[in-house]
Amino acid sequence: DVKETGRAGAAVFDDQMQRKATQRMATKTHLGGALRRNELRLRFQPIMDLRTDAPVGFEALVRWEHPQRGLLSPSEFLPVAEESGLIVDLGRWVLENALRQLRDWESRLPDVRDLSIAVNVSTRQLQDPGCISFTEETLALTGVDPRRLHLEITETTLMGDVEAAIRHMTQAAELGVRLGIDDFWVGHSSLSYLHRLPAHTLKIDKSFIQDLGGTETRPTLIVETIIRLAHALGLDVIAEGVETETQRAELCRLGSDKAQGYLWARPLSPDDALA
Ligand code: C2E
Ligand code: MG
Ligand code: MG
Ligand code: MG
Repeated sequence: DVKETGRAGAAVFDDQMQRKATQRMATKTHLGGALRRNELRLRFQPIMDLRTDAPVGFEALVRWEHPQRGLLSPSEFLPVAEESGLIVDLGRWVLENALRQLRDWESRLPDVRDLSIAVNVSTRQLQDPGCISFTEETLALTGVDPRRLHLEITETTLMGDVEAAIRHMTQAAELGVRLGIDDFWVGHSSLSYLHRLPAHTLKIDKSFIQDLGGTETRPTLIVETIIRLAHALGLDVIAEGVETETQRAELCRLGSDKAQGYLWARPLSPDDALA
């Protein structure tokens, strides 16, 4: 009976929604404690120069080592962190620990030069009035050259004060920090203020990369157009989510400057990244 199945389906759906809502509440309650209990972890994914095929830096990606639920990925707790404002404290933890990690690698690898560390920040974090002074102080404290720090900006739904976010990005750029636009053209990332941002790089989302090199020509045309736009604006291009040799070759042909993805490495522990 179609009607019966439909109703059963709706019940299952309601049940899932209910469970999701309950889990969100629990996440919210425990996330603050996670920061205090030091349960956050960073993983590091190499960013490769496509011309030399050498790593030029790492992107820091946050994880939560939950005592019961195991290692959680950002999609399981970042939305709650954004909603509750905890993202500001979480972001500060990420920045400080990513910079400390870079210093640690630099001291162990004296021959390696100009390694950069990319840290993700949402526009919500950039509305924090103290974000620039915190960044400046943490750079000074850790002794990292501001040019080694790359901030990857993702637009979030809770846009709020766009002007404050743009002002803070400009101030970060004045410190010498490099700015990148992450998740370009997906979700909320918009073109409308691209020309107003003092950005240095543009990151092409993996959703554009996955269909490269197939029989369809459109994915190639889209990626080619994004690369042309970025280069015309003087931005360096990083392609993310590269999983196959075909995609890598295609990105080289299209002139992408850098890339990252499982083809080279998954996000790694600090020791694996060092190795
Ligand atoms: P993102 O900045 O666009 O990061 C890229 C995501 O793609 C990461 O997921 C990474 O693990 C994944 N990835 C990398 N290479 C491949 C690949 O070849 N194939 C596939 N399928 N995936 C790949 P992750 O670590 O789950 O992070 C998701 C998002 O969470 C990030 O997207 C970023 O927007 C956000 N995020 C992560 N860490 C932080 C943080 O410390 N602060 C803030 N504000 N956001 C963060
Ligand atoms: Mg990113
Ligand atoms: Mg991205
Ligand atoms: Mg992405």
